[in-house]
Amino acid sequence: MSANIEMKYEKLVELYEVLDSTSKRLEKTSLIADFLSMVGEKDPNILSIITLFILGRIFPTWSEEELGIGSKLLMKAIALVVGVKPEEVEDQMRDIGDIGLAAQELFSRKVQSTLFRRDLTIEKIHQNLVKIANITGDKSQYKKLEILRELLSSASPMEAKYITRTVIEELRVGVGEGTMKDAVSLAFKVPKETVERAHMLTNDLGLVAVVAKEQGLEGLQKLTLEPGKPVKPMLAQLSPNYIASIQEMGWAFCETKYDGIRVQIHRERDEINIFTRRLENISQALPEIVEYIKKAIKPSDFIVEGEIIVTQDGKPISFQYILQRVRRKYEIEKMREKIPLTMYLFDVLYYNQPVLDEPFKDRRELLEKIVQIIPIKLELSTQVKVTPENPEKAEKLFNESIDEGHEGIMIKDPYAPYTPGIRGKKMLKWKATPETLDLVVVGGTYGTGKRAHFIGSFLLALRDEDNKLKNLAHVATGLDDKTLQELSEISEPLIVRKIGRQVEMIPSIIMEVAFSEIVKSPEYESGYSLRFPVVKRIRNDLNIEDIDTVERVESIYQTMKLIS
Ligand code: AMP
Repeated sequence: MSANIEMKYEKLVELYEVLDSTSKRLEKTSLIADFLSMVGEKDPNILSIITLFILGRIFPTWSEEELGIGSKLLMKAIALVVGVKPEEVEDQMRDIGDIGLAAQELFSRKVQSTLFRRDLTIEKIHQNLVKIANITGDKSQYKKLEILRELLSSASPMEAKYITRTVIEELRVGVGEGTMKDAVSLAFKVPKETVERAHMLTNDLGLVAVVAKEQGLEGLQKLTLEPGKPVKPMLAQLSPNYIASIQEMGWAFCETKYDGIRVQIHRERDEINIFTRRLENISQALPEIVEYIKKAIKPSDFIVEGEIIVTQDGKPISFQYILQRVRRKYEIEKMREKIPLTMYLFDVLYYNQPVLDEPFKDRRELLEKIVQIIPIKLELSTQVKVTPENPEKAEKLFNESIDEGHEGIMIKDPYAPYTPGIRGKKMLKWKATPETLDLVVVGGTYGTGKRAHFIGSFLLALRDEDNKLKNLAHVATGLDDKTLQELSEISEPLIVRKIGRQVEMIPSIIMEVAFSEIVKSPEYESGYSLRFPVVKRIRNDLNIEDIDTVERVESIYQTMKLIS
């Protein structure tokens, strides 16, 4: 197909530049809406690609496809195209602190042979990126490099800036899912809530944009869950006071809160897939869970949800062990014996048809009907019904849960539908341990003496309502020397700037941090800081979108003030 004017990558690059030049969300929304409504009629696929590209993505969130290109390979490709040594690209990258700007600078120094420059189209770029993602096996890195090199050799400096950023999925034009949903709603004149819901159920804003354009409101309303495509889990808020929470709900289901990893299990015909809350497929690593599910639930298409924990002699043991299971590619059978798992199911989202809009009490009833429990291996979460007249039942469950080594209890509204990705008041948690925060590392300071070779203190950040990172605290406690060393190794490629012993890092490592108190602090961008922060664990299972927010810190601050 010959590219019409809108399909040129150049056009999209122009949009990126204007998006980057404004921080006003409304302005960004209307710029994107104008662009989306201008996309040609011929190929709906292009609208989906553009929507994802503007979000800095290549594949929809539910997809497992990934490019498999690290920054080293990318720098090599840039070096080949501009005719310099990879170290020069690395230096440039370190100086500027952004791969896109570094590429732009190097490309603009290159003598342009316009004779060979062909117009890059959005489709061509997309096709090549898909090709790269599909390369596996022998010499795959070399083959990926070749395609990338070919692609970049047709790029102008400005195009190179954004192709490289797209490759590492860090577009930096300040467009998040919220802005994109507003833009789709504005462009195709469909209500925001409908776009929101369609996105929630499909996890694919590209598809949502195409359906909004082609079928409007009615089409969007028909989009729903599909076994095989993971959805974001419904999230829990902290209950400030469990008795008040139960009263507010009228009555509630309280359940044991298990401290393991949350999984969503999909059965689509004969295939069973297990996804983490980051929508990562971990089925290969957990063959016994697949077996238990096959045995426990009659064949039918379904999506169930639960928590997997590690147990020893019937007692839960440290969360850390489970991480040794979920990403394992080898010796799975051996690990299966060494680290036995128990699955606790607590919800059902689909059973022959979507059931997520049913009230929780009916979903639980369905779960009880369809699951044949296998003691110690696959069970349902322990649940009690609690009314405001008998709150001691919740307390009893809480104490029993803690005694058994679990984390606390969940408090669930019996009439609530399942709302993917939403942290609302319909599912609450009441934990024994002090609250923890999930924070991302944005910098650090090298230690002194024996620890001079590794970063001994990390600067942590959370996100504000515009998804901007705001720092909150330094943490230097809770990590042993071995972990510190490992962390330093992981941190090395993430470092973008060094000033003396201090470093600035690409936000990637997420830490769960406990603390004694939240205090107001003008020293940190968030306006708050933590007293006695301690790293509890590294959260490899979380994405940057999952880190805590300034809003949450504010709410814990207020709650703590009330309690103390
Ligand atoms: P948190 O990770 O502290 O935000 O607490 C919410 C998490 O608790 C959920 O995401 C689940 O992974 C986990 N969880 C453990 N037991 C349950 C349960 N019975 N119902 C719902 N979530 C649970």
